[in-house]
Amino acid sequence: MIMPMNTTHARLAIILVIFTWLSCVGCRGVSQDPSQAKASVKTHLTSASNEPLARVSNRPGDTKGRVFIVMYHHFKPGRGDLFRTPKQFRQDLETYYKLGFRPVLASEYLANKMPLAPGAMPIILTFDDSNPTQLHLLTDGSVDPNCAIGVWTEFAKTHPDFPVHGTFFVLPETMFGQIRKFRDKKIEILHNLGSEIESHTMSHPFLNRISDQRVLKEIGNANLWLAARGQKPPFSLALPYGVLPRHTQSFYGFVWKGHKIHFSGVFLAAGPPARSPSDPKFKRFRIPRMAANWEGDAVGYWLKQLAKGKIKPYVQP
Ligand SMILES: [Zn+2]
Repeated sequence: MIMPMNTTHARLAIILVIFTWLSCVGCRGVSQDPSQAKASVKTHLTSASNEPLARVSNRPGDTKGRVFIVMYHHFKPGRGDLFRTPKQFRQDLETYYKLGFRPVLASEYLANKMPLAPGAMPIILTFDDSNPTQLHLLTDGSVDPNCAIGVWTEFAKTHPDFPVHGTFFVLPETMFGQIRKFRDKKIEILHNLGSEIESHTMSHPFLNRISDQRVLKEIGNANLWLAARGQKPPFSLALPYGVLPRHTQSFYGFVWKGHKIHFSGVFLAAGPPARSPSDPKFKRFRIPRMAANWEGDAVGYWLKQLAKGKIKPYVQP
């Protein structure tokens, strides 16, 4: 189950993440093998006529610029970074779209194969904890128009070049609620839309507070759970609370219950726009994400920095 994040927890997590991020800025990169990333990258750019795609913006191409990775949690009223209302989410999508962002999956980013039109900037929308308001089905099995998937699906009808390609870091024990009735159907819905589900561990612990063996259990079992539901490894992992375990060798691969476990990338829960996989300083096991908020050090702040020309974004040539 998800531990409710009180103010103290939230502050602690943010401090730990900022410390981790700062301490890694200057550290040497470790062996990072892009071939570990998913080989089959989905694309929404297959044009029936094979005509060249229209240019999205006049920004010059830059494949070493920063990539915006945004982290969403709940879609209902609430205070703090964990809440966006459905209406606010609709506005977020409109904002991203008008600025020239187009959605890509975490797996596409990690594989450095982002299917983008010329002039487009990638944006990776990530959804943590498989909260019920991310994907809720009505009693007849249709998607609730007020859940995140409902809002985005409606938006994509009028913005077909902003398809519902999101990355969901799920918890097997919650899976958007409605588990017994709709769990498998929800996985199928996400898959059919072109979204993906990835790991957020089994039970959302602070990984720095548990033994190395329990870390392996948390991330090993989650990967086996995903694989058993047709998801293709290697998976990426969003760290609960953005907190790294005391030892991170497990990210590079280990054997669990007879299966090889390894990751294409590991995501934090704070920080600036992420480095491009083409940037020599890219570190695939410490990738920052921005909270979905227009206050504080969240995506709104970084969009202002972008508007001021203080940040160089990744732009498809
Ligand atoms: Zn979480």
